[in-house]
Amino acid sequence: MDLTTVETILPVRDRAALAGAHRGAGDTALLAGGTWLFSVPQPHLRTLVDLTALGWEPFEVDEQGLRIAATCPIGALADVPFAADWAARPLFRQCTRALLASFKVRAVATVGGNVCTALPAGAMTSLTSALDGVAELWPQGGGVRRVPVAELVTGDGRTALAPGEVLRAVRLPVRALRATTAFRRLSRARLGRSAALVVGRRDEDGGFTLTVTASTPRPLVLRHAAVPAAAELVAQLEAAVEDGPGWFEDVHGDLDWRRAGTLRFAAEVVEELS
Ligand SMILES: Cc1cc2nc3c(=O)[nH]c(=O)nc-3n(C[C@H](O)[C@H](O)[C@H](O)COP(=O)(O)OP(=O)(O)OC[C@H]3O[C@@H](n4cnc5c(N)ncnc54)[C@H](O)[C@@H]3O)c2cc1C
Repeated sequence: MDLTTVETILPVRDRAALAGAHRGAGDTALLAGGTWLFSVPQPHLRTLVDLTALGWEPFEVDEQGLRIAATCPIGALADVPFAADWAARPLFRQCTRALLASFKVRAVATVGGNVCTALPAGAMTSLTSALDGVAELWPQGGGVRRVPVAELVTGDGRTALAPGEVLRAVRLPVRALRATTAFRRLSRARLGRSAALVVGRRDEDGGFTLTVTASTPRPLVLRHAAVPAAAELVAQLEAAVEDGPGWFEDVHGDLDWRRAGTLRFAAEVVEELS
């Protein structure tokens, strides 16, 4: 939709220009792919600061793993040069497809925009939380602040970003990229928005991680030194959700249905990875 109150779109080409333009004022927003920004009325906005003019490389591979720029289009993850031993590769495709969107939206919607929108069904939040992603943030005052993605998203539409702070990139460690993953997703329709998304991960050292998104307002991550018994994990998960973020519900699914699906999926990923 047209954002009729916006008077200025400001392309920024370096960090100094970005910091000067984006100070956390309520009438200014960062613009990445624009697929969320232009999908809902934004009557408070006067200025959009265009991040895509920064020209960041979409992704970089080094001995530590994969660094994905915040401005990397979700669809471009298909072009990552995965190392032969990065067994987690299928999870990229599964999470990309979990985004309720056509290939046209995936071509412009960015990884950073998805994480910072902080929808419980944020498929890039699911992917990067499940692979121990660490967000590199650019605070207003300079320097870099690092926060696990699972802690950056704090609730439905809420993040731990400080005013004027920018997500620069997400780093995924080699250890997680080499892990074997199991993916389960619940949705009202085959191409509907995720109502529950569960990822199990077994690392090369036997360590096990369970990540729940979409059925909770923020990511929930449980870790074990080895793949646990299904009943033990399900009981732990139920308690962790109830003592923590609680179950999420909206028009895309009722609470009881999401809860039942999530607990069933937790047991299934244990079976798959055992
Ligand atoms: C048809 C359709 C289907 C969709 N389906 C889903 C879905 O299934 N799941 C889901 O989660 N979302 C969905 N969305 C919402 C949205 O499109 C995605 O979340 C998308 O990934 C947002 O990315 P973007 O680059 O377009 O962000 P933008 O719209 O450009 O920005 C989104 C928000 O993030 C902020 N932001 C962007 N980049 C940064 C950054 N680097 N640092 C700090 N803040 C930043 C912006 O200021 C804005 O507040 C859908 C949208 C459409 C139109």
